[in-house]
Amino acid sequence: MPKESYRWQFLEGLMRCRAEAYGYKEVRTPVFEQTSLFSRGVGETTDVVQKEMYTFSTKGDDSITLRPEGTAGAARAFLEHGVFNDGLPSKQYYLTTCYRYEKPQAGRQREFHQFGIEVFGTQNPAADAEVICLVDGLFKQIGIENLRLEINSIGCPHCRAVYHEKLKEYFSDYKEHLCSDCNGRLERNPMRIIDCKVPDCKNIAEKAPRMLDYLCDECREHFESVKQYLDSANVSYEVNPSIVRGLDYYTKTVFEFVSDNIGAQGTVCGGGRYDGLIEELGGQHTPSLGCAMGMERLLLLIENSGIEIPKPETADLYIASMGDNARIKAFSLAEEVRQCGLSAQCDIVGRGLRPQMKFADKIGAKFSIVIGDDEIASGEAEIKNMQTGEKIKVSLNSFAGDFSSIMIDAETKKIANL
Ligand code: ATP
Ligand code: MG
Repeated sequence: MPKESYRWQFLEGLMRCRAEAYGYKEVRTPVFEQTSLFSRGVGETTDVVQKEMYTFSTKGDDSITLRPEGTAGAARAFLEHGVFNDGLPSKQYYLTTCYRYEKPQAGRQREFHQFGIEVFGTQNPAADAEVICLVDGLFKQIGIENLRLEINSIGCPHCRAVYHEKLKEYFSDYKEHLCSDCNGRLERNPMRIIDCKVPDCKNIAEKAPRMLDYLCDECREHFESVKQYLDSANVSYEVNPSIVRGLDYYTKTVFEFVSDNIGAQGTVCGGGRYDGLIEELGGQHTPSLGCAMGMERLLLLIENSGIEIPKPETADLYIASMGDNARIKAFSLAEEVRQCGLSAQCDIVGRGLRPQMKFADKIGAKFSIVIGDDEIASGEAEIKNMQTGEKIKVSLNSFAGDFSSIMIDAETKKIANL
């Protein structure tokens, strides 16, 4: 709503600034994609794809899906528009809506917003660390404390194949105790059982073999190097072997920023590497990575942490008028003021003077002025500082210039008094 949108704009502004400082450029993709972009093949085993998609048929019987996340669309656009020809890595960010058909609850909406970043075309661990640093610094800039960064490596298809066998062996002994979803996962993607929220499955998963113990040399070195970069940038983290992430295309580094301050849905940001995704979509081997942060959860966290987001500036000037001639004069003076880069409002309702002044108060105008026939005749009027009550004469012929000087004076005094 208008009275709270400044909170979103403030965060979005910070995010854009931060992303641009790292060389990321905004990508804007359509709200829906062909369903097949999200549900690739039969191997897909995540809740997002299996249960949470908003999928529709079009008049032409195409199946389309409202984007449940931003990565697939950005990856599709990367291929379709030959972005790889612009030089790699390609660093992109987005601020966008996402749609998931889940049970609405605190921190879980069906339409929600994400700030996400993607880096296409680098397998170097410095890229993993850069993505994490960008987000970590953003949280610090906002003033959020008590946020845990948890990292893990889920290996590459080679070492994960070995690990999957170990997991199958382990979980097979508990088959009748696992939920029906996990029984399906056991065959197709046993690693997903580790992410299950059902208490029995969670208990069983606690003692399951860990991917970290099965990483191949390359994956282990990669993970060690990511940690080294993070240490060098003073980013603190915990290794959490049970993070496996929500989507199937992840490889190697995965991470989450988790808060204990916003209830059960405590993950504010999640991300990782998806070295196989671009190839899976028909492109060349293009190691890539990214992460996404939930805006609603971030706002909840900010509120629960007692962090104040700066309120937006109110109107610099309200120009009240009495009589028909003055009404037109007020209208043109307001235009002049706005052309100088200041904000001004005048009556566009047709109210009398008293309700106009009441309105000026309500919107918190810093200055006000009343224009009537006398002021038009003399070419002079008085501007009132709404906070101090001080009145200053101005000429209607050089109005915008006079008012700019008054504003500069007032701002200078405010700074001097700080
Ligand atoms: P969760 O386990 O909390 O459902 P996820 O793994 O499904 O998270 P991702 O796909 O990684 O979430 O999305 C990135 C971020 O988007 C999450 O960390 C969270 O902050 C936010 N997010 C995900 N789903 C929702 C939702 N339904 N409503 C609000 N925010 C969400
Ligand atoms: Mg989810």
